[in-house]
Amino acid sequence: MPLKLLLLSTSVGPLSSGLGGGVELTLYNLAQELWQRGHEFKVVAPENSKLGTFPVIEIPGELQTTAQTQADTAPIIMPENSVLANMWDYARQVQREYDLIFNIAYDWLPFYLTPFFDRPIAHFISMGAMTRAMDEIMERVAVQFPGTIAVYTQTQAHTFPFGDRCRCVGSGIDLSLYQFCAQPEPCLAWLGRIAPEKALEDAVAAAQITGMKLKIMGKIQDESYWQQILADYPKAPIEYLGFLTTAQMQQELRQCRALLMTPRWIEAFGNVAIEALACGVPVISYRRGGPAEIVEDGKTGFLVEPDSVTGLVEAIKDLDEIDRSICRTQAETEYSLKAWGDRMERWFEDILSAIAI
Ligand code: UDP
Repeated sequence: MPLKLLLLSTSVGPLSSGLGGGVELTLYNLAQELWQRGHEFKVVAPENSKLGTFPVIEIPGELQTTAQTQADTAPIIMPENSVLANMWDYARQVQREYDLIFNIAYDWLPFYLTPFFDRPIAHFISMGAMTRAMDEIMERVAVQFPGTIAVYTQTQAHTFPFGDRCRCVGSGIDLSLYQFCAQPEPCLAWLGRIAPEKALEDAVAAAQITGMKLKIMGKIQDESYWQQILADYPKAPIEYLGFLTTAQMQQELRQCRALLMTPRWIEAFGNVAIEALACGVPVISYRRGGPAEIVEDGKTGFLVEPDSVTGLVEAIKDLDEIDRSICRTQAETEYSLKAWGDRMERWFEDILSAIAI
């Protein structure tokens, strides 16, 4: 039966700005799958958002600051004229037109508001544990509304005290958007938000040691952090290409010998890992967080000791051992959009049938 869903985006940036990181792709993929399957939905997001050709209800207001680098005891902060509050006020007013509300924002307010809504809310948590205040409110929802919280990976779920109450749905991508490349150029790729938790400096250091060019793509979220990297590694063979669209990004990515992933934090998933595999590009990552659940060590890339630049350098030297066609095959068998869409649809149906009982 077709569902009617209201999808609420992240409040840290407009969709397509890159500020939302992997959730922008995840939300786009969800819209794509819902549309393919004949479900009705509307997307609510901050002003100036774009989501492919899907219409977006744009809500004005001040953006929420990102949660990634907050201390464990950080309080919840809401700006004046908060876009997050405005988005959820809109949702409150129109909720009766929908069967289910989907929340992808890693924010306190949607969790707090859950019991005050008439309609069920499916919360997709996109990051691991950050602050105690967030953990507390998410746990309250996990206990009061069983089955309504989903995460990307087991590793991510285990960062939460309520990890065993989370549903693990993984991720998936539209494989037709990523072209396989058998013959790469002698260069490496690094993709993502340029922010301290992603530790780009380690990839730059590895490029400097190996002398292999590193193509960097992604939104500069923290300008002073980026300037520090440029100052610390003036001679590293790096090239910054900007924040690219998926189509442009995969054209650059697929020509690279490997993707370097250097998360300092517990990366919840790492959409960039499966995007690389889809192009036949092996992934060299720290053995930490989501990438450690994705990369098959020695087969579709290498998992190296966390925070070890030497480990990255050694893995780069071993890249000839990897068969790039096996990388593409792994993406096809484990990360198709269809398989992910099935899991998301089942999750929504389970929430709705639980309240129907
Ligand atoms: N990305 C992009 N263009 C770029 C660099 C990155 O569209 O130039 C996207 C990439 O496709 C991925 C997202 O940025 O979907 C990064 O997500 P990931 O899950 O790896 O990390 P997050 O930012 O969520 O921590």
